[in-house]
Amino acid sequence: MTHQHTTQRQLFESGPKWVEDDARHGTIATVVLPEGVDKPLDYRVPEALAASVEPGRRVRVPLGRGNRERLAYCVAVRSGELPQAPLKDVAGVEDERPLLSRRMLELTEWMADRWMARRGEVLEAVLPAGVRLRHRVRLDPLLVASGVAPSRRPTPAQARVLEAAATPATAVQLTRATGASRAVVSRLLKIGLLQEAGSVERPVGKSPRQPVRHDRPAQLSPAQADALAAICGSMRASRHETVVLFGVTGSGKTEVYLQSVEEAVAYGRQAIVLVPEISLTPQTCDRFRARFGTVAVLHSHLTPAERHAQWREIAAGRVNVVVGARSAIFAPLPRLGLIVIDEEHETSFKQATAPRYHARDVAEWIARAEGVPLVLGSATPSLETFARCLAGEWRMCRLADRVGGSQLPAVLTVDLRDPGSRARGAVTPRLAAGIRWALDAGGQVMLLLNRRGFATHVQCASCGHAMRCPQCDLALTLHQPGDRGICHGCGLVSRLPAACPECHAPGLVQRGTGTQRLEEQVRRAFPDAAVARMDTDTMRTRGSHERTLDAFRNRDIDILVGTQMIAKGLDFPTVMLVGVVNADAALHLADFRASERTCQLVMQVAGRSGRGPLGGRVVVQTSTPDHPAIRAAAVHDYEAFVRSELPIREQLLYPPYGSIVRIVVRSESERGAADWAGLVAERLRAEAAGVPAIRVLGPAPAPIARLRDRFRWHVQVHGPDGSELRLIVRRATCSLRAPDDVAWIADVDPVDML
Ligand code: ADP
Ligand code: ZN
Repeated sequence: MTHQHTTQRQLFESGPKWVEDDARHGTIATVVLPEGVDKPLDYRVPEALAASVEPGRRVRVPLGRGNRERLAYCVAVRSGELPQAPLKDVAGVEDERPLLSRRMLELTEWMADRWMARRGEVLEAVLPAGVRLRHRVRLDPLLVASGVAPSRRPTPAQARVLEAAATPATAVQLTRATGASRAVVSRLLKIGLLQEAGSVERPVGKSPRQPVRHDRPAQLSPAQADALAAICGSMRASRHETVVLFGVTGSGKTEVYLQSVEEAVAYGRQAIVLVPEISLTPQTCDRFRARFGTVAVLHSHLTPAERHAQWREIAAGRVNVVVGARSAIFAPLPRLGLIVIDEEHETSFKQATAPRYHARDVAEWIARAEGVPLVLGSATPSLETFARCLAGEWRMCRLADRVGGSQLPAVLTVDLRDPGSRARGAVTPRLAAGIRWALDAGGQVMLLLNRRGFATHVQCASCGHAMRCPQCDLALTLHQPGDRGICHGCGLVSRLPAACPECHAPGLVQRGTGTQRLEEQVRRAFPDAAVARMDTDTMRTRGSHERTLDAFRNRDIDILVGTQMIAKGLDFPTVMLVGVVNADAALHLADFRASERTCQLVMQVAGRSGRGPLGGRVVVQTSTPDHPAIRAAAVHDYEAFVRSELPIREQLLYPPYGSIVRIVVRSESERGAADWAGLVAERLRAEAAGVPAIRVLGPAPAPIARLRDRFRWHVQVHGPDGSELRLIVRRATCSLRAPDDVAWIADVDPVDML
């Protein structure tokens, strides 16, 4: 009783009543743990901490019987009556300032519901690791900074160095500023709490690379001007609107982004520009850098310290433009005026691991909450986006023509079934003729083949057995040199046997062509041309991507062979021929978006051709020239594809006409995976009974039925209403406890169906 705390209210009250009141009243903090318990937990806030416990900061709380201290996010604070069962006390406060604004807290709550993710997981996802590691405060000398990195307690000297390293600095600067020895810095480097910046570009400000262009066109085309007016109208009125720039490649979309951002900045506001992947869009980043002084480019190669430094610059309002991939949407801009998503149809905007959010939807939520425009640009908008425009929810601005009067290239389809088009290699005579034509005219060539490796599979010539990965249900891809069989599912490398492991006959044949073999064939067929290849195998080292593109730009390379990596965002005016070696490669995957993806990829890569005064052509090799996706791509008419595809989606209630929750179950034992998937499906059917238009599909083995020694089964639930669907899945699974050898996830509105 002697430990009663005095609240402000009590100072003004007197009489016998208040002692009793005080016992029942107090301040309660609701906290969320980053992992473990998913449910928000309530703790009492002791008086000594009342001033510092607030939503958005992390606190330390005792948990479980042992009262082990855990770090948790405070998401709400209220004062009121304490519950019957006594609450435990918050033990300490971790952060000096809130790491998350109220709006971000609201956003994380919405995200957790929208993608059936754990709130703690979402909270961790919206904050970069560097931010979570730093921000320490010692409010109470008895509670000296514990739980900094979950299992590590830095020494005071280490803590000082970490604090100082929040702004990038050299080791000498660090030791000087903190008085710590060089050994402390080395130790931190060793345990990974500090990282060397190496050759990574400076976090904020000028780029070490020369910007490609500075030019700002004197005049926008009428279509560009209309789009800009729509965006600026929304911006000036502080009224949220989503504007979709549906414009062929080279129609000037990026110029519209640039000028919208200029407008935002002129009004003292800031902008976020999302791109699919920084390393694949160097030109876009360069153009933003050239136009704006301070651009924060958030890319995946930043060290935690660099990322943290950027975060602080951004939060302090010192950066006007943030360019980054998916997670840059969480950048804490204090005066947000505009969000742009370039290539909005790209699947990389959806995170493949928990929380499985889609940055496009997050961007819409933020733009709506902030009352600012959201701009989505693409030559091939996703059907989800297209449908929202057709429904009148979003405004579509069409940029139908290339700027500067250059024509879209003529597309020639080569029917691979036609005996006349047979070739010894992967390049048909007509494609070869096209390459020759371009080279002779002084142009450059890009050849797309979306399969890396030498041969896509290796088969026994007598029994037909295909070599498979021992731990995945996938055929091994042959890579040279060294006759290595590499599994593209798990990366396992194995030496291929000399004879068939099934029938022991000698003579394995290499089937299917990958980029490696294509490169070899092209070199042989065009000995006078300089050939280079761009795929994940050749682009492993940092900077190699930019080096290859620079070499291509400088005309040191005549023919660039590559995977989808070469399809994106590149603008080389002397590319006169683009060849799509096998347009059907992804057309028959067990994925309802296979046609959409194929059409998008072929159109994107076709758009690389003929951007300059020399003009250009495209040759598409296909076994299904009549497929709507190929037909539409061949005449540059994406909308024709949309018109043929939307009714199919509507009939099947596939997105955009319905929502999907996909449950993927993994286990070392096939039975384990199958049984658990079966149980989930049964519960789902029971919950869905009587709810109209809900379909439960499965259980069934997933298209990739085994990966990394785990069997994979899946169950899908489809329905017209996403929130209803999630409710059904929650009800069906909330009381289920998976056995130890079974892991499962729920993917809401998946983009990956394999
Ligand atoms: P997209 O993003 O649609 O592919 P870009 O914005 O990159 O198109 O424009 C293609 C090329 O045309 C770029 O070199 C760009 O600088 C130039 N450009 C854009 N708008 C104009 C314009 N109004 N007048 C002249 N050139 C322009
Ligand atoms: Zn494998």
